[in-house]
Amino acid sequence: MASSTSDTDARRDEYATFAPTGETCPECDQPIGPLEICRRGTAERHSGPPAVVYRHTKCAEKYRRR
Ligand SMILES: [Zn+2]
Repeated sequence: MASSTSDTDARRDEYATFAPTGETCPECDQPIGPLEICRRGTAERHSGPPAVVYRHTKCAEKYRRR
């Protein structure tokens, strides 16, 4: 995965995809199913660079840009 986006926004919604096995949605703390479309995004951390997270589509709506 050669992503070279310069992320300055700490929390953002990027695109729809499938989550890796075992990913948990940080918004609702529920696991994301292996065949469930979700939204890839990043989340601010207390230390270090933003972490890549996967959210349920409905949980990511508030981060989606209009
Ligand atoms: Zn969720």
